[in-house]
Amino acid sequence: MVVGGGPTGVETAGASAERFKYVVPGYFSPELARSCSVYLVDMVPTVLAPFTGKSQTYAKKRLTKIGVQLKLGVGVAEVDKDGVTLADGHKIASRIVVWAGGLKAGPMLAASGLPQGKGGRIDVATDLTVPGFPGVYVLGDAANITDAKGRHLPQLGSVAQQAGHWAARNIKADLAGRPREPFRYLDKGIMAMVGRGAAVAEVGAARRRWQGPPAFAAWPGGARRAALGHGSAHQGGALVGVGLLHPRQATDRRRPAGCVRRRPGRHCRTRPCWHSAGLRPSSGADPEMPAWRLFSSQRGSYPAAAAAL
Ligand SMILES: Cc1cc2nc3c(=O)[nH]c(=O)nc-3n(C[C@H](O)[C@H](O)[C@H](O)COP(=O)(O)OP(=O)(O)OC[C@H]3O[C@@H](n4cnc5c(N)ncnc54)[C@H](O)[C@@H]3O)c2cc1C
Repeated sequence: MVVGGGPTGVETAGASAERFKYVVPGYFSPELARSCSVYLVDMVPTVLAPFTGKSQTYAKKRLTKIGVQLKLGVGVAEVDKDGVTLADGHKIASRIVVWAGGLKAGPMLAASGLPQGKGGRIDVATDLTVPGFPGVYVLGDAANITDAKGRHLPQLGSVAQQAGHWAARNIKADLAGRPREPFRYLDKGIMAMVGRGAAVAEVGAARRRWQGPPAFAAWPGGARRAALGHGSAHQGGALVGVGLLHPRQATDRRRPAGCVRRRPGRHCRTRPCWHSAGLRPSSGADPEMPAWRLFSSQRGSYPAAAAAL
């Protein structure tokens, strides 16, 4: 059960469903795969809310095709050890619940005494200072930032990074006795991975759309990093994503014994094998292992899922 249909939730749900579709039947057993389900719940009626309608429709179709059950337009009211209860009273049993529904600002902000806005974050003026506190800058995920064009900016690495540079610029302007300037955000676009060979990218402020294999192929080449203005700290995160969704890219490129295809990818798509799963034959997976253990036991495991166990 993944709660939240933003990029994080879509990527997690897509990767989990593909594990159950491609890896589990071949490496463990088809019965085990059949007993696994992936749900994606979001209170708004779509996934990837910041993207255009076409990208949202593509993502929904792709997720459904790989077996993700979408519950959209209904929020989660309660999470307990047996699963989740939706706002409409419907219960869905689940052993693992991954929260991808957004983060609340840390308790330090509440303790600061500064006026808090949406999500417990601090509403800042366009010069990135707190209204009424001209010497206090709040940046990144701690702030609700509106740029010079009046756009409410999302909690993204690129926003945090650019705001950091801008705040430094304004502090230098203060010291030089020059006026501060309102934050101008350079929007390089957004991107989300839906599954193997499937991604959506909307590049630049004009949101030029890519979808499917071209958007997917752009990912490891660093376009995501460039498109989103990622700092180096996020490059690792992107590569973990590649390892999860396309395990062979991040792990073992050798073909398995008996695989005669020149391109291992073709082999893996038609018949899952240890190679497609990013596993080595010696990893000794236990076919009796319960489904909820899979993530914690395999290479390329997803830390959030493992942590939830
Ligand atoms: C799962 C996930 C996936 C994401 N994917 C993307 C993505 O693909 N692209 C993208 O652009 N953005 C992504 N983001 C958002 C991005 O990570 C954040 O917007 C960005 O990291 C915000 O930067 P920040 O500096 O404000 O906060 P952070 O990166 O969270 O840094 C805050 C730092 O402050 C430290 N800290 C906190 N409290 C204290 C304290 N009291 N004293 C000292 N230190 C403290 C923390 O330990 C942390 O190191 C993702 C976020 C999540 C959670």
